Amino acid sequence: LIEQSGPRYCFKNGTGWLRPPAIRIPSPNCDDRPECCAPEAIIIHSISLPTCCYGGRFIEDLFGNRLSADAHATFAEIAPLKVSSHFLVRRGGHLIQFVDVGKRAWHAGVSRCLGRDKVNDFSIGIELEGCDYESFTMEQYRSLADLVRTLRAKWPNLGSERLFSHSDIAPERKTDPGPFFDWHRLHVLLQ
Ligand SMILES: [Zn+2]
Repeated sequence: LIEQSGPRYCFKNGTGWLRPPAIRIPSPNCDDRPECCAPEAIIIHSISLPTCCYGGRFIEDLFGNRLSADAHATFAEIAPLKVSSHFLVRRGGHLIQFVDVGKRAWHAGVSRCLGRDKVNDFSIGIELEGCDYESFTMEQYRSLADLVRTLRAKWPNLGSERLFSHSDIAPERKTDPGPFFDWHRLHVLLQ
């Protein structure tokens, strides 16, 4: 066996899309970043549909505007939303990309970070499949750390002080990624 060398994730030359093993599922819920501002922050979220249920395609369906409102009692409210994130890390560590990192994904909502509003304008959104009530998997931390390293190679300004939770930037509205997200574990993996 020849051991694979180099980073797990890398950008396709000249694009804002990662090559495999990242999986590409484009979302229509994105637009141009205003001006030509490079990403200045990484926002970490958690999502599961229904809450705490893993696997299945409901998250991809939501970001693709094809989530059926009838599929679960809790979906009627969220099915009409036009939302997305750049990335989703599934429980097994598999990485899905929905939006070109050069584009603005719609993940932050009303938010404030680094003294500025409209955090979508200048951030990259990463969803972890999970919820507020249980731990994330080691595979997710490893995949997340590999992704952050790849983003940092492209934008060296994205240091550890530029990593935020959704609850940091919208504390009145949001709790994700929740109390079980282990920042220390991520920072150790990023050393
Ligand atoms: Zn969030």
